[in-house]
Amino acid sequence: MISKAKQVWVPGPLIVGAGPSGLAAAACLETKGVPSIILEKDMCIASSWKLRMYERLKLHLPKQFCELPHFQFPKEFPTYPTREQFISYIDSYAKAFSIEPLFGMAVESAAYDAGIGFWKVRANGLEFICRWLIVATGENGEAFRPEITGMRDYEEVVLHTSEYKRGDVFRGKKVLVVGSGNSGMEVCLDLCNNGAQPSMAVRDKLHILPREIVGISTFGLSMFLMRWLPVKYVDSVLLLCARLLLGDTEKLGMKRPKIGPLQFKIMSGKTPVLDVGTLAKIKKGEIKVVPSINRFTSKGVEFTDGRQEDFDAVILATGYKSNVPSWLKEDDFFDQRDGYPKTQFPNSWKGKNGLYAVGFTRRGLLGTSLEARWIAEDIASLWSSETRHLPYEL
Ligand SMILES: Cc1cc2nc3c(=O)[nH]c(=O)nc-3n(C[C@H](O)[C@H](O)[C@H](O)COP(=O)(O)OP(=O)(O)OC[C@H]3O[C@@H](n4cnc5c(N)ncnc54)[C@H](O)[C@@H]3O)c2cc1C
Repeated sequence: MISKAKQVWVPGPLIVGAGPSGLAAAACLETKGVPSIILEKDMCIASSWKLRMYERLKLHLPKQFCELPHFQFPKEFPTYPTREQFISYIDSYAKAFSIEPLFGMAVESAAYDAGIGFWKVRANGLEFICRWLIVATGENGEAFRPEITGMRDYEEVVLHTSEYKRGDVFRGKKVLVVGSGNSGMEVCLDLCNNGAQPSMAVRDKLHILPREIVGISTFGLSMFLMRWLPVKYVDSVLLLCARLLLGDTEKLGMKRPKIGPLQFKIMSGKTPVLDVGTLAKIKKGEIKVVPSINRFTSKGVEFTDGRQEDFDAVILATGYKSNVPSWLKEDDFFDQRDGYPKTQFPNSWKGKNGLYAVGFTRRGLLGTSLEARWIAEDIASLWSSETRHLPYEL
């Protein structure tokens, strides 16, 4: 087929996605004097935070672990900034580095043309030609909605957490939240605080940890201990503290994996849940823990233990998936099955032929910040050597 797309030559790197990762990469490049272009499918920066996160959300980790490169959170922000505060931080970040993405540019395909040694990236009827391509579409590129038998016959509302905004809409209603990760737990708490009657369907074994241990963030404490101790000893400390502070979560219907929380994260990629008050509500019976779903009925669900119950709404807290396989025509660096780089952190940021990835480390914004710096350094070294030679090669 003959290409009809108008071609646009991009002298510097092209970044796909204007979330925290794409912005961090652009800012780090900017500080090295390398201009970049960001293509963003939505009409704003940080659209995951502005459009697809619930209102009560606060950062899960303390702010010092969520800072993007070269820019601090305002001093007056609390340890765990709210969603609104994080959004204002990101807006100021983009302003500080004069980052102006091209909006409404959903990248449909990107492929390396070995004949010319450049990437061809298609979006919105245009074809961008660039030497360096930085993938920053995020681990949460698409909501993951599992296919559950009978779902279409269910007559009430089914939402994904990316569509859930606030609990007061469900006041007085019986709501089933499917999934028990950080989002599932927080949505249950929000529903409960807003007068709804939530039940949480738990399928997998999971680690729940207190968000803080004797006033220190559990995440910060783990990072500190890991400097001195092997992971399995740090896990033992965390499990002991969890037992002392939270009690036996298995008794509440939430079994723990056999290996500790940090080892489990390393092996499965699954982040431990940091409790922000949900467990207390479960203990009081204000949030019910139920088994996973076998199938939907017209008014509710049948659980795996065969019991049936009616619900006014179902919220899928079933997570997200990367959308990279849907547009990136490359299977050497990125795994086409899960849309993550095949190599693990700290080797998950650089592929071949000028391909880079930022924000796929399963380490949140801390991983993003490190990768954004590494990518900028790498491209800057090539950029200066290439620009230095340019006049002689022309
Ligand atoms: C509920 C929740 C709470 C979290 N809390 C924390 C926390 O406290 N601390 C922490 O470190 N991490 C946290 N994270 C994890 C992570 O840091 C955030 O998800 C963060 O937004 C990731 O940034 P990102 O830029 O990689 O991805 P995103 O924020 O998802 O940004 C990706 C961007 O790419 C765009 N895009 C996608 N596909 C295309 C395409 N084909 N073409 C063009 N544009 C495209 C999207 O519209 C989006 O703007 C949290 C995640 C969730 C879901």
